[in-house]
Amino acid sequence: MLVTFPHMGNAYIAMKSVLEDLGVEVLLPPPCTKRTLELGTKHSPELACLPLKLNIGNYIESLENGAEVIVMAGGCGPCRFGYYAEVQREILEDLGYKFEMIVLERPQGNIRDFIKKISVITGGKTILQVLASIKRATEVSVLMDQLEKLCWQTRPREITKGTVSGLMQEFHTRAGHTRGSKQLTILINEYKEKISQVSIQKDKEILKIGIVGEIYTVIEPFVNVGIAEKLGSLGVEVDKSITVSYWVVNHLIKEALHLHNKQEIREASYPYLRSFVGGHGQESVANTVIYYRNNFDGVIHLLPFTCMPEIVARSILPVVSQKHGIPVMTLVLDEMTGEAGYMTRLEAFVDLIGRKKELSGLYGQELLSGN
Ligand code: SF4
Repeated sequence: MLVTFPHMGNAYIAMKSVLEDLGVEVLLPPPCTKRTLELGTKHSPELACLPLKLNIGNYIESLENGAEVIVMAGGCGPCRFGYYAEVQREILEDLGYKFEMIVLERPQGNIRDFIKKISVITGGKTILQVLASIKRATEVSVLMDQLEKLCWQTRPREITKGTVSGLMQEFHTRAGHTRGSKQLTILINEYKEKISQVSIQKDKEILKIGIVGEIYTVIEPFVNVGIAEKLGSLGVEVDKSITVSYWVVNHLIKEALHLHNKQEIREASYPYLRSFVGGHGQESVANTVIYYRNNFDGVIHLLPFTCMPEIVARSILPVVSQKHGIPVMTLVLDEMTGEAGYMTRLEAFVDLIGRKKELSGLYGQELLSGN
């Protein structure tokens, strides 16, 4: 039984890990490309969320390659994510594909139901075996995010431009052929070591930008047009408020066990937004405040066109920006997003925050002079 799932940045590493440890044959969809988006856009409702369209593209490309089972995350709440799975199933069935779809929702106090769903693809594995592989996959995803963070810190300081990106391309090619948590852990550690060996300019003055917004657009580089890489090449260190391991640990595991402490998020967003608005809208507001408190120079807010929770956040962020004096730029992403215009906006924003920092006397001429 060939099992596939949609792409979302480095989430495929954790998914491969858990499924392969349980003896499941994984068929990875090809990385998201223009073709993936065109397929998804062609077969989805025009106003559907951009992530739904790309998911459809991923599924079609995997089904064309022989996938038999689709595993996807499900959910509920004020935004449209709650009916994603049903819409996607109907679109694919109308196109004539034969497949089984397993929708994994966060266990609401009943872990047995969750395990039962997984057992459709894992055969006779026991609850303990499934839990052990989830634990190992969580550890792999934490390691993977550490590797990404190391790249965000190293890229703006690297002496030979493109070294980090070249190594990461090599990493992803090898990861696609690496099976199971043990081998993936070895591979990730190998590349953590390689990235930490990259020659850097240690005393270089750099800008720091926090990225907030809708989870898929923050994490998936095809949709955000490689924002971390582009900002890194402009001499900016980025940090993402949401990562795959953050989502797995807090939203999947801790919330299921009622252990997710949202106090910091509630406190930071309280003056501006006091309730859950679906997705990560409240977190976008809170994390902008938190980035300000952590002395970041600016924040970029990413959202797909028509994303309801982030439209709420977008209407609030100008007030947060004005009150705290932290520049915030919102980028709305859709299938028409062009790389040239996008890059121009990033360059203009980096230039603006560089000048702001220069005027405040905290920053030299280095980045502004383009070195
Ligand atoms: S968070 Fe936004 S993009 Fe994601 S499903 Fe909800 S409305 Fe769509």
